[in-house]
Amino acid sequence: MGLKGRYDVVIVGSGPAGAGAAKALSGSGLETLIVERDKLPRYKMCSGILFPSSRKFVTDHFGEIPSEILCSPERTKGNRVFATIDSPVMDVPFSVFDEGEDLEEEGFNTWRSDLDFWLCSQTDADLVGNCRFDDFEKEGQEYVVTLRHSGAKTSVRTKYLIGADGTLSRVRRTAFPGFEKSVGLVPNYEEIYEGEIDLEPGWLYLFMDRSLTGYFATVFHKDGKIVVVTGVQQRESVKEYFAAFRTHLEEKHGLAVKETAFRHGIVLNDMSAKENYCLGSDTLLLAGEAGGFLRGGEGITSSLISGKAAGEAVLESARSGKPAVEHFQDLASEEIEVCKRVNTRLTEAMGFNVFIRE
Ligand SMILES: Cc1cc2nc3c(=O)[nH]c(=O)nc-3n(C[C@H](O)[C@H](O)[C@H](O)COP(=O)(O)OP(=O)(O)OC[C@H]3O[C@@H](n4cnc5c(N)ncnc54)[C@H](O)[C@@H]3O)c2cc1C
Repeated sequence: MGLKGRYDVVIVGSGPAGAGAAKALSGSGLETLIVERDKLPRYKMCSGILFPSSRKFVTDHFGEIPSEILCSPERTKGNRVFATIDSPVMDVPFSVFDEGEDLEEEGFNTWRSDLDFWLCSQTDADLVGNCRFDDFEKEGQEYVVTLRHSGAKTSVRTKYLIGADGTLSRVRRTAFPGFEKSVGLVPNYEEIYEGEIDLEPGWLYLFMDRSLTGYFATVFHKDGKIVVVTGVQQRESVKEYFAAFRTHLEEKHGLAVKETAFRHGIVLNDMSAKENYCLGSDTLLLAGEAGGFLRGGEGITSSLISGKAAGEAVLESARSGKPAVEHFQDLASEEIEVCKRVNTRLTEAMGFNVFIRE
């Protein structure tokens, strides 16, 4: 899809925050563009579990979730937690950390590439992949947004700019360079295997022992493959912890790798855990992880909800003439409270904050 020279709203990022914002703007008549750095549908390292609250949000706002975007096993029954290397496994239902009314018990298992592409496709925004946001300048009431589209530099003009570009948000770093000093990172690394493991599919396995992870480590199944992930504190080596975790799985849980299909790395930020949100200013808004929204380690719901709040704030601002960020602060305040409650509950249950482990 080609780019027009001018939009009412430009959304950077085609994850759940971008999709939530675009959905809220759909039908309003405001011309909306979503730009995505990667080729679509893009891979996103994530367990890809639509927790019960995400399932409900998606069904309520985007419609019935099609089976084509689910992977096998289609349902995830809950968490299975190994608190230490020696402790027995504990079943922890999603409901313990997942807030909301009328929720199902089980989560849905998805590849994020399929989920996020489908979510964005359910909006009436123009969706352009291979299109990286680089920079912006304010000219009068408009932003001139510099993009790199299929390798070529170009620009578009817009009244509202929504940064939904994830943990390391370039929109946030461009608009608020000083803020970055307050952001801590949690590196994560995954390998996806063909092989065997003595852990029943259909659960999200969490390993908390400090010798295996500086955050938490997970194992889950997708389309017959075994996904192994660990995270660490910023000062630590994620590859070293990953090696220890893999050895533990081989020795204690019968992991036998036939082939490594993929390797990926990603970072989370600690903004939500430290209640250090960055919502934007004037007509520039930051939603999802770019703004700091995360419920413990679960982010799809929070990104969808804060994205929707950003889209609604734009609509309110267009009506009221007030800065969109003032409406966004009101509309996102409930989700900030939910993030706080979930983070507190997680910290109390674990006895430590997973984002700041000694
Ligand atoms: C290991 C791991 C497992 C997780 N498991 C779960 C889980 O099972 N369930 C759950 O609910 N949450 C999970 N999360 C959290 C969840 O993945 C995130 O919270 C969620 O994806 C955040 O959504 P977002 O829309 O804010 O950002 P993202 O989903 O990260 O989307 C941001 C998008 O912006 C694009 N982008 C970035 N920079 C630019 C740029 N300059 N120009 C254009 N586009 C750009 C990126 O390519 C990306 O597509 C997990 C996180 C990790 C790290």
